[in-house]
Amino acid sequence: MGVIEMIDPATGERLGELEETSPEAIERAMVHARKAFRRWGNLPLSERMDHISRLRRYIVEHADELAATVVKDTGKVHLEALMTEILLTVDFIKYYEKRAASILKPKKVPTPITLIGRRSWVEYRPMGVVAVISPWNYPFQLAMIPAISALVVGNAVLIKPSEVSPLTGLLIEKVFRKVGFPEDVVQVIHGGKEVGERLIQARPDKIFFTGSVASGKKVMAAAAEHLIPVDLELGGKDPMIVFADADLRRAANAAVWGAFTNAGQTCMAVERLYVESSVYETFVQMVKERTEALRLAEEESDVGSMTFPRQLDIVEEHLADAKEKGAKILCGGRRTGTDGLHFEPTVLVDVDHSMRIMSEETFGPVLPIMPFDTEQEAIRLANDTPYGLNSSIWTKNRKKARRVAARIEAGNVCINDVMINMVNPGLPYGGVKWSGIGRYHGPEGLLSFCHRVSLISHPGRKKREINWYPYSQRQTDAIRYLIRLLYGKGLHLSMKEMFNLAVQFLRRK
Ligand code: NAD
Repeated sequence: MGVIEMIDPATGERLGELEETSPEAIERAMVHARKAFRRWGNLPLSERMDHISRLRRYIVEHADELAATVVKDTGKVHLEALMTEILLTVDFIKYYEKRAASILKPKKVPTPITLIGRRSWVEYRPMGVVAVISPWNYPFQLAMIPAISALVVGNAVLIKPSEVSPLTGLLIEKVFRKVGFPEDVVQVIHGGKEVGERLIQARPDKIFFTGSVASGKKVMAAAAEHLIPVDLELGGKDPMIVFADADLRRAANAAVWGAFTNAGQTCMAVERLYVESSVYETFVQMVKERTEALRLAEEESDVGSMTFPRQLDIVEEHLADAKEKGAKILCGGRRTGTDGLHFEPTVLVDVDHSMRIMSEETFGPVLPIMPFDTEQEAIRLANDTPYGLNSSIWTKNRKKARRVAARIEAGNVCINDVMINMVNPGLPYGGVKWSGIGRYHGPEGLLSFCHRVSLISHPGRKKREINWYPYSQRQTDAIRYLIRLLYGKGLHLSMKEMFNLAVQFLRRK
């Protein structure tokens, strides 16, 4: 059993240490979660929602205090913590407060004529114990939103926060305790990747994983051993395409925010910026000026520190590789401050796809910019990646925007906007290609934590059906006629054939 050191990444201050959850305690937590599931899953939805509304009110009343803890844990700017961790979480809760009943209501499904006399519908049932394994970049909302979605449906939840943001893990535990959530319905498992592995070995009924592609593959392989369903929300290398006819001021402001918010540690950050050649020089200058105006490590800073020392190393490795291959740094490019993990927002030109900075997830405050000549070239460059999380297209020509959007290989596309899809709680969120499997948020956010059970009901007063034993030649003929009647060109059945068909359907023997 290991110990996690808690360090404020902005100052390097040591905040304490936290013991990892032991293997025995994980097993116990699973047993308790299974018991809790039986009670929680059987509550009426309205009672579960009462608990969840109380949780929302608690988060709202303690918004600044919660945000401050996340800031201490991650080094992000307080405003960003309020916007992206607190506001987003309560907005999602509110969305489900309004919509869960209709999303989870049994849905009638049309019954085809071949099944005449029956009724068909779908019911949504909780899966059991859901393991939510979350990362450090938005440690509150990326644990809370999937956990709450799973809870709404009636699942019990085991949350395994990132070992890089342990304070937030403790905070989440405290929030559920303070709200008086029923015992063991939500439990927090503290620790690193070995603890995450043990959690999977304890066989939850569903895994919701957010993290890197490399870990996602391991999680999926481990889950496959027990056939546990997984949702994977993984990394990105998101392109932003700026056409010459775009509102360049809006696009430049968006590029800078999209690349540097949360110190670039956002799965759907702008990691590659493609600009049409005719406005390239102008646009690069606009981006550079706006980047140089950003304030760092001041009382009112725009860009916080990075969170994870290893991530800062990756940023430097990508920059070194790019420089060696001919890239030019226009501004930034260095660590700042003395003790923390601050890195200057960095703009880079003369880049190409042979560089790691254009092909691998950098996950830091770096914005490489590259020109393109044609729409086709922009699309080709944008799709030249194994990732497919988010993307943005900038043009005043709506037709062109829709045309390009249709060809971008990504789970989310913004037009004249950046990263914002995630903020609409009604839109499903997730990636394609290496960026993930599955969707959450919106109705999918509840349905992905459900077993969708198909039901069909017959009045039960007929002794035999057309497809049941004993088989006969008349039955074979009837099925043949039925195929022609329903799926062929027309109604060319003789009276005899029609009669036989009716007899087969109505037969009661
Ligand atoms: P990570 O993969 O290192 O860790 C994520 C979580 O998984 C942590 O809790 C970690 O302890 C756990 N873990 C790691 N290996 C495991 C294993 N084999 N079995 C079980 N658990 C394991 O990722 P990170 O560095 O914490 O987060 C950054 C990554 O997450 C980036 O790639 C980023 O793009 C991605 N991310 C994606 C989204 C999204 O919604 N698609 C959102 C945020 C972050």
